[in-house]
Amino acid sequence: MSTQVPASSSRWQSLADQVLSGYQLTREEGLEILNSSDDELLELLAATYRVRQKYFGKQVQLYYLKNAKSGLCPEDCGYCSQARGSKADIPKYRMLNEEKLLEGAKAADEAKAGTYCIVASGRGPTDKEVEHVASVVEKIKSEYDLRICCCLGLLNEEQAQRLSQAGVNRINHNLNTSREYYDKICSTHTYQDRLNTLKVAREAGMELCSGLIVGMGETLEDIVDATFELRTLETKSIPVNFLNSIEGTSLEAVDELDPRHCLKALCLFRMVHPSTEIRIAGGREVNLRSMQAMGLYAANSMFVSDYLTTKGQAAEADYEMISDLGFEVIVSGHEMDASTEAPELAGQTESC
Ligand code: SF4
Repeated sequence: MSTQVPASSSRWQSLADQVLSGYQLTREEGLEILNSSDDELLELLAATYRVRQKYFGKQVQLYYLKNAKSGLCPEDCGYCSQARGSKADIPKYRMLNEEKLLEGAKAADEAKAGTYCIVASGRGPTDKEVEHVASVVEKIKSEYDLRICCCLGLLNEEQAQRLSQAGVNRINHNLNTSREYYDKICSTHTYQDRLNTLKVAREAGMELCSGLIVGMGETLEDIVDATFELRTLETKSIPVNFLNSIEGTSLEAVDELDPRHCLKALCLFRMVHPSTEIRIAGGREVNLRSMQAMGLYAANSMFVSDYLTTKGQAAEADYEMISDLGFEVIVSGHEMDASTEAPELAGQTESC
């Protein structure tokens, strides 16, 4: 049996060479990655890994989150189980009290997680909720050596200032898709609203964490557009979610991803954002399936255990996967014993 060797197999290594020398990919080259043949996937991953290795070696950053407020959202983001109109069977509760949020910080600290992420559903927080989170953050900062990332929805200038003043290091607010496609997935707020929140967060002195969800019916051009929009924002961290179409949401029937496409998307992100933390976020298990480990040749970060309203694979299986790759777990700067027990976790898939 004769098999044809892909003619362009060195194309990706040349592109990696260029990226390693400081070259910035064009949109056309980004699209080329997403359009590449499955036969070239190993070559693409090998080339991408060289870029990942330069900036992150074999390190894998793990993230832990607390779902501080669940469900009850008036917004209509089609991918989200917490959206208005969603019939998904999820926990619903208002903002956790101080005790519960402090418990989360303790769990994060015990697991040597350098960053404690506080995530709340909703269009955006009330001033009272911001004050509550800010006062808890001040307490956390006085007790623990933890970085704090908040994902609270749309913020105004004053709210961003208050969070920053309290010691919040980073704001997560995802673009989710391209500007062009945004109104197909949400009608209750705009892409510009999201950009405005990122702007006020940055102006208040906080770092930005922002990413997207692949697989919501967007075109390859939409993915490339969102990737490049993030480059203009200079985000420190990019979570790449893959749609986990949850029963009861308006995107429940959308199921268009295969693991090879997911891997190409991760390669695109690494090549466009060589030195930025790229996180395999929600939908990892159901979309990458048996190829999850390969995603870490492009990405350098992931969530472990459960997501906001869906289950992830057991943390032990994640640790084993990382160890099998010969990679090492770094939780925001601390090396972590693979036997460390994970705290109560909630990861992010229905990104707010
Ligand atoms: S993503 Fe956030 S804003 Fe959108 S519906 Fe879900 S909880 Fe609400």
